[in-house]
Amino acid sequence: MRFTIFSFLLTLSSLALAQSPEHTAPQYEVESHLRFLASDELQGRRTGEPGNFIAARYIAENFRAFGAQPLPGADGYFQHFPLETVTPPSASALKIGKTAYEHRKDYLMMAGDALNAKTTAVFAGHGWVDASAGHDDYKGLDVKGKVVFVISGLPDDSSPMAAFNSIRDKRRLAQERGAVAIIELYRLGFPWQFALQYFGKSSTRVGDDSPDKATIPYGWLKEKGNDALAEIVKGAPQKITLSSSGASVTRKMVPNVIAVIPGSDPVLKDEYVLLSAHFDHVGTGKNGGSPFTAADSIFNGARDNAFGTSALLLAARTLAQQKTKRSIILLACNGEEMGLLGSLYYADHPLIPLRQTIFNLNADGAGYNEVTKISAIGHGRTGTDEHIESAAAAFGLGVIPNPVPEQGLFDRSDNVSFAAKGVPAVCISPGVTGFDETLMKYYHQAPDEAASVDMPYLLRYCQSFALLARRIADDAAKPIWKKGDKYESAGMKLYQK
Ligand SMILES: [Zn+2]
Repeated sequence: MRFTIFSFLLTLSSLALAQSPEHTAPQYEVESHLRFLASDELQGRRTGEPGNFIAARYIAENFRAFGAQPLPGADGYFQHFPLETVTPPSASALKIGKTAYEHRKDYLMMAGDALNAKTTAVFAGHGWVDASAGHDDYKGLDVKGKVVFVISGLPDDSSPMAAFNSIRDKRRLAQERGAVAIIELYRLGFPWQFALQYFGKSSTRVGDDSPDKATIPYGWLKEKGNDALAEIVKGAPQKITLSSSGASVTRKMVPNVIAVIPGSDPVLKDEYVLLSAHFDHVGTGKNGGSPFTAADSIFNGARDNAFGTSALLLAARTLAQQKTKRSIILLACNGEEMGLLGSLYYADHPLIPLRQTIFNLNADGAGYNEVTKISAIGHGRTGTDEHIESAAAAFGLGVIPNPVPEQGLFDRSDNVSFAAKGVPAVCISPGVTGFDETLMKYYHQAPDEAASVDMPYLLRYCQSFALLARRIADDAAKPIWKKGDKYESAGMKLYQK
């Protein structure tokens, strides 16, 4: 075929079609996001502190500037949630029969109102009730005004996860039946000394807003063997005195930042791709959890996670500029460093029903030691691998699938909050080949500052993330959990297939 100026123009215009706004994004755009978010002025963006609110405001006003819209049910671009810090009771005394137990040595009161009780102690199995399974540990048992002792964990699951996740319900079940306190017999795999240390400190979580939330004292006790407690477990109630000074609880509302970009396809716009990145970090000084100096006590979190937040902001701009077929939810998560709190809250309180969210693409990482690649955590699990590889290749980058598996990275960022609900999810991290010296120099360290960031690499990482979001949101095929994946059944339940 002969070459004509007409075919040359055709070629040019088809090339222009293949170009989306990600391809022409300038470095100064993402660099300015990262430099602002990681600035000393923001004091490490610790959840609930002024710098964290300023970061949230910055993200919200950028969403507005790009033309992304607020979601119904949000307060403008903010989804507020309660951050609750519980400090265990400072003083407590416990005597069962003739045996006295020492607080913070033999047992640990962790939560609940103040109490001064002289009553009876009874044993209630696991303290669990599951009507659908015909299981009721309280059957025929009167616990009114008494202290209830139960085994940690669930009847069919003694894992630490089951133990932690069932605490709220177990306290409520005991309180509903009139018990004045509930104490779990500590039978978890962690050493008791570790549990005392770890759970004896203040802890922060999403506050419980349910009207029937439990307030009775709750604690753990390490069994000694042959004493009055052993009699209780055998089914012989004993005399008990229990006092507690009560836990102190402080509450504060903190924001996730959220917006939507409606899709362009009349049908597919009812499906949503959820883009997420956490914008909080650990703060300053002792709160940072790592060594610091008087000269540098700010944990700027340039890599963790101003990096991923910049990718989210770039995607917000380019996807709003040139729409995708599916709609896009932009979610800047708060409280990640305190236990994925913001994403857990959104997953429990979604502003668009979760079954309409077909995918979660998360941007987060510990840092990088390989700037010719990005890392794909969750690679090989959701049918999106080709998109990941082609989006990275468009900016000259390779892909490291599931780096450092022994670190369990998939379950350590916000993507897991959605995966656990069944939403197929992948986390795009900067290139990491191992938790080596280069990585650990910055990971949760004071030197993780903007000045040390490879800005050309930041741009290519952000571009890959935004283009990947575009390709998934435009693909006629939906991501799906691979057969046998640990989240496959949750996915089937969510989407009712
Ligand atoms: Zn992070």
